[in-house]
Amino acid sequence: MSSSAPDGSTAVAPAARAADKAPAKSLPQRAMEKLGLRRDIDLALHLPLRYEDETKLTPIAEARPGDTVQVEGVVREAKVELRPRRQFIVHLAESLEVGASAAPGRRRAELVLRFVNFYPSHQKTLAAGARVRVRGELRGGFFGPEMVHPTFKAVDAATPLAASLTPVYPASAQLPQAYLRKAVASGLSRAPLDELLPARIAPTGLPSLRDALHFLHHPPPSASLAALEDHSHPAWQRLKFEELLAQQIAQLQAQRERRKLRAPALWASIGGLHERLLAVLPFQLTGAQRRVAEEIAADLGREQPMHRLLQGDVGSGKTVVAALAATVAIDAGWQCALMAPTEILAEQHFRKLVQWLDPLLAERGQGIAWLTGSRKGKERRRMVERVASGEAALVVGTHAVIQDDVHFAKLGLAIVDEQHRFGVAQRLELRRKLAGDPDGANGQDGPDGPNGRPGTLEPHLLMMSATPIPRTLAMTYFADLDVSTLDELPPGRSPVVTKVFADNRREDVIARIRDEVEGQARQVYWVCPLVEESENLDLQNATETHQHLSAALPGRMVGLIHGRMPAAEKAAVMSLFSSGDMAVLVATTVIEVGVDVPNASLMVIEHAERFGLSQLHQLRGRVGRGAVASVCVLLYTGPLSQTGKARLKAMVETTDGFEIARRDLEIRGPGEFMGSRQSGDALLRFADLAEDAPLLQRARAAAPELLDKHPAAARAHVSRWLGGKMEYLKA
Ligand code: ADP
Ligand code: MG
Repeated sequence: MSSSAPDGSTAVAPAARAADKAPAKSLPQRAMEKLGLRRDIDLALHLPLRYEDETKLTPIAEARPGDTVQVEGVVREAKVELRPRRQFIVHLAESLEVGASAAPGRRRAELVLRFVNFYPSHQKTLAAGARVRVRGELRGGFFGPEMVHPTFKAVDAATPLAASLTPVYPASAQLPQAYLRKAVASGLSRAPLDELLPARIAPTGLPSLRDALHFLHHPPPSASLAALEDHSHPAWQRLKFEELLAQQIAQLQAQRERRKLRAPALWASIGGLHERLLAVLPFQLTGAQRRVAEEIAADLGREQPMHRLLQGDVGSGKTVVAALAATVAIDAGWQCALMAPTEILAEQHFRKLVQWLDPLLAERGQGIAWLTGSRKGKERRRMVERVASGEAALVVGTHAVIQDDVHFAKLGLAIVDEQHRFGVAQRLELRRKLAGDPDGANGQDGPDGPNGRPGTLEPHLLMMSATPIPRTLAMTYFADLDVSTLDELPPGRSPVVTKVFADNRREDVIARIRDEVEGQARQVYWVCPLVEESENLDLQNATETHQHLSAALPGRMVGLIHGRMPAAEKAAVMSLFSSGDMAVLVATTVIEVGVDVPNASLMVIEHAERFGLSQLHQLRGRVGRGAVASVCVLLYTGPLSQTGKARLKAMVETTDGFEIARRDLEIRGPGEFMGSRQSGDALLRFADLAEDAPLLQRARAAAPELLDKHPAAARAHVSRWLGGKMEYLKA
């Protein structure tokens, strides 16, 4: 467990580099790939989270409890003790050469090193008489100063101290810091780091990329740790500018490419489906719905593919807007695909759309097809045929809609609900599918030849999301995305009141449920978390809660739904709850999106501290969908972390999705906001959109100039920074 020499001269990365020849990859190599560390440049751009100062030694007597220090000494005694538990105890005496404070005549300062986990290698290196350099946090122990699990290495009197601060990199359990340090050091020495930016564009006053990287990986001991750690140092500024520039160029390119594409111009026909749907709707559209429906219709009428995000809080009525867009496409003689991330959500759409559209479509000899993962065999084949023949004017489902065997006769519009919940891979698949079916089954001119020109046509794309994207993010991540916003809820909604209780108030909450169910004939959701790592435990918890509630509510139907149930069973449970037969539904987060049961007036979220803010908001959106006053109870198990507290507080203070999104961004930062938790996926690793707004402005201004006047440099810059992540930008 000794710490590595900071100059990291032993090359480890060459092995990683030769990985394509050597078939078996080591665990750390695979862990590096997972972090997106494939090329030398990726390693060079993998920057330290913080630094350790191994450039100096602190005399033991001068170190204060709480300080993280490096000391050097000789092992006076080393032994394994068995009480109070088995541990390895080392008494380290200050070596004579250091520690000027050890005044003559006084006992030399000593330090206890304590290892609860240890291996024979510990005992070997830390044997009595060994001279070692040790680094860790000093604590005031019972027998004087001690360090628990310090890093250590054997040295002799001539071993030099590190010449620069030692970087600590974002690593993972399978990727030891020492291994990563060596890999990064050799990646840095090999990576081509020539200046790509012409003088007019390279920001003045900041170091070159090469200098910035060498500095950040191995800062001199004199460097300001504060400026390094808060990323305000000019070297960091340079990196952030470079990153933002790459991202802006990539966006600009994607935007220009998209501008070249053509789509069928879709218009509703007089007396057609669109008008008929408006006539049969059981409610008046809100002003916001009317406005966004017009924005969408205007896009559909153009010969360029729409690329629009419809954002609106949960319950703002996005589905009907989607249905209206679909009718425009169908009126124009094209098909529309509507996709949702889960089967339950797809089913919701399906039922509502069937109710609204099926009778109208039937009159025209058309229908709706339904494609999900659980529909297989003959039924699926029949659906696929109806899609291929064009008889299915509307195709609803999960990502099963974009499977390889599905070919649209004439896909004019694709609508993706809760689009941020689709994985990146599925989003890419969708884009590929939309970009043109390889068989040419889709993307041909309409029967009327809508624009008289030959060639393939792209469908229009409408994405919907209940998680509003803050303006800066929309501008930065989706340079060519148009955004429509539903900023008004349908009338007659009463806002949900949110309450936070510690878990020991559970029985009070159950009494409240009884009241709701027996007194008011209302329905209740009880949501249990399901975290992948502890899936079995959580499932057990959900099952127990289900039993407990069943016992507490005799004569009432209490259901259980979770992700591991077969789809048919899930659908059966959902339909019992939707019909009102089931009073209480205990669920893991499968109900998270889109379920619509207006009679549900109480939602209990257990272990609310484990959910993200936008997830809590989405869940809460399942109640308060009718005119009934609704309550959301957040049960938590303490102690709460700072962010946990901030999230629950935000939930109590606001029901406004935009405000929730703003706070979420504040609590989590934009990287996570975009749903890209693995650092390998995050598009912006270093820059912070709020903090680095001035750099973003510079990058925005520089991007078109670089792309137009120095296209080769622009390409090289983007590839250097984004490499394998290019595809994500299109997703
Ligand atoms: P979301 O935006 O969360 O997808 P939905 O489309 O599911 O919201 O709509 C929520 C509920 O509001 C549905 O029951 C829907 O039928 C209803 N609704 C939608 N628009 C209106 C409206 N203008 N007036 C009344 N109710 C509406
Ligand atoms: Mg919805």
